[in-house]
Amino acid sequence: MNFDVIVVGAGHAGVEAARAASQMGCQVLLLTMNADQIAAMSCNPAIGGLSKSQIAKEIDILGGWMARVADESAYQYRVLNERKGPAVQATRVQVDRHEYRQIMKFRVENQSGLLLKQAQVARLLFEGSKIKGIETSIGQKFFARQIIITTGTFMNGKAHIGRQSFASGRAGEPPSLGLSDFLKTLGIKISRFKTGTVPRVDARSVDFSRMERQESQTSCAPLSIFSEKLRPDLRAAYLAYTNPKTHETIRASLDQSPLYSGIIESRGPRYCPSVEDKIVRFADKDRHQLFLEREGRWTNEVYVGGVSTSLPYDCQLEFLRTIEGLESVEIIRPGYAIEYDYIDATQLLPSLEMKEVPGLYFAGQVNGTSGYEEAGAQGLMAGINSGLKNFEKEPLILKRSEAYIGVLIDDLVSKTTNEPYRMLSSRAEWRLLLREDNAEQRLYSYAKRNKLLSLSDEQKIEAVLDEREKLHSKIKLTRVLPSQVINSRLAAVGQNELKSGISVHELLKRPGFELPEIEMLVPLLFAEHAQQDWKRVMSDVKYEGYIRQCESQLKQMERLERLKIPLGFNFSALKALPIEAREKLTQIRPATLGQAGRISGITPASISVLAIHLSKASDKGACVNE
Ligand SMILES: Cc1cc2nc3c(=O)[nH]c(=O)nc-3n(C[C@H](O)[C@H](O)[C@H](O)COP(=O)(O)OP(=O)(O)OC[C@H]3O[C@@H](n4cnc5c(N)ncnc54)[C@H](O)[C@@H]3O)c2cc1C
Repeated sequence: MNFDVIVVGAGHAGVEAARAASQMGCQVLLLTMNADQIAAMSCNPAIGGLSKSQIAKEIDILGGWMARVADESAYQYRVLNERKGPAVQATRVQVDRHEYRQIMKFRVENQSGLLLKQAQVARLLFEGSKIKGIETSIGQKFFARQIIITTGTFMNGKAHIGRQSFASGRAGEPPSLGLSDFLKTLGIKISRFKTGTVPRVDARSVDFSRMERQESQTSCAPLSIFSEKLRPDLRAAYLAYTNPKTHETIRASLDQSPLYSGIIESRGPRYCPSVEDKIVRFADKDRHQLFLEREGRWTNEVYVGGVSTSLPYDCQLEFLRTIEGLESVEIIRPGYAIEYDYIDATQLLPSLEMKEVPGLYFAGQVNGTSGYEEAGAQGLMAGINSGLKNFEKEPLILKRSEAYIGVLIDDLVSKTTNEPYRMLSSRAEWRLLLREDNAEQRLYSYAKRNKLLSLSDEQKIEAVLDEREKLHSKIKLTRVLPSQVINSRLAAVGQNELKSGISVHELLKRPGFELPEIEMLVPLLFAEHAQQDWKRVMSDVKYEGYIRQCESQLKQMERLERLKIPLGFNFSALKALPIEAREKLTQIRPATLGQAGRISGITPASISVLAIHLSKASDKGACVNE
């Protein structure tokens, strides 16, 4: 019973951690409380969406399973922000939640070097100050020098529905008791957050004909670079709306809400508000949108997206029945809120290893995050870093300019979070560099160096990179001559007409020249490459100028990261900073710009303001570079 790495918990973080470490050649034990609930989706059965699809794609290139399994179990695809630029476009895959977890379980069970066992871990074992293994609630002992804890919302979990509350890890599953108390004995700081979920209703009681039908997109690319095509059996979702009657019903029940009656004191995710919060915080809105999505192909359960609630069961039923199409609705599972223990992630190194307990890693919701992608990304990195440590190698720390994963982990370990952390594109100051369509360019070298992919997967990515490269050269070499078609298109978008030949590359940079125009002008070249390759290259070209600008700013920022802030610097006088930033900086008085950036609540925008100011001062000799 000796392993290299033990992973505690087989949620979204746990499976990616176990996969990465075993792929790197470690012997891995994955312990979880219920072997039928591997990578179970506690809330919305969907992967991707704004800023999260980027994370899912980064996980994919680094060998993780999330995006592939989303494609394998897909139910519906949507490309968000399709009309905006590629930097903010995002694929969202609604999945069959039962298939998703079955496929994950199958993958876990068949991964070489990985052993799965159902068990509840109660405490960690030490030899002196060195970690040496774990002990389960029934006294089994397993040994390893690296332990990764990914217990999600389960530690001391307590669910709430109205004024009723009960111990629970997630609806229908027991909490994990004991481990968190044990961790406290090690001096680990633990606090509580809360989150919530929506009611699930019976499809037979819903009148879908009175709702807006939203078909799946069928022409987008799969989420994973390794998936060949979309499943053929995609399904529709439906849109419905709350109305003043719904709001009135909810408002009248607020005194029975554990959120508003003071029963729940811990903080929840601000960006996923409960329907109670929406009614109170956005009191002037007379409707909120709901998404009705079936939870899978073999169930009548429907997820009612947008109405996360912990009101009593009767109130949930009453307010749902005020909504058009839901007048006769029956609830299968009520919505609920859950409070749980999480650790303060500033106790971790950027490798996700605990500063004070070498060999002990934490990943996923237990680090104060919310969301499957955020959890999967941390699991992956903890798995990779435990594997590297096992082979006595340096950890892999992704930079903020290389990956959303880098942003996520840097934020977590440097800033104390006082609400569940969810990735937002606004957190990534280099988001133009971190597009959905260039994850392989950014991260493949790490995957290859650390042996995170099979040989055939490596070949697949290399082929994609190769095609991209070839197409780039071809569009630089292929010239088009001025023609009626080109000039009328240029005139239509207010551009000067062409007087001489121009490369396809130059033409693509011009507004008004998208793929259909290119197909018309150079049909033979267009046919030589897949649509997906053209899309990738087009966004490289369209963003070329911005990217160059970003890269030079990045170099400047890296220098500024090390810039010293003079003693006694008057932050209060810097009116371009928000008041909160001025107050925090005055209180903490960071010594360098890098340190300032790690203060909770100081946004990248404030750092840019400070950087510009310090840079000017530095030019005048006021600051000293390290
Ligand atoms: C009610 C609810 C609502 C949510 N709503 C949202 C939302 O609206 N939006 C959003 O983005 N995210 C939401 N989430 C969060 C999302 O589900 C999580 O972020 C994600 O599942 C976290 O993944 P994880 O791997 O960290 O933990 P989990 O998926 O929770 O997995 C933890 C695993 O650890 C195992 N485990 C726990 N303790 C032990 C132990 N002692 N020994 C062995 N195994 C153990 C459990 O059995 C489980 O398999 C919600 C979660 C819940 C519970």
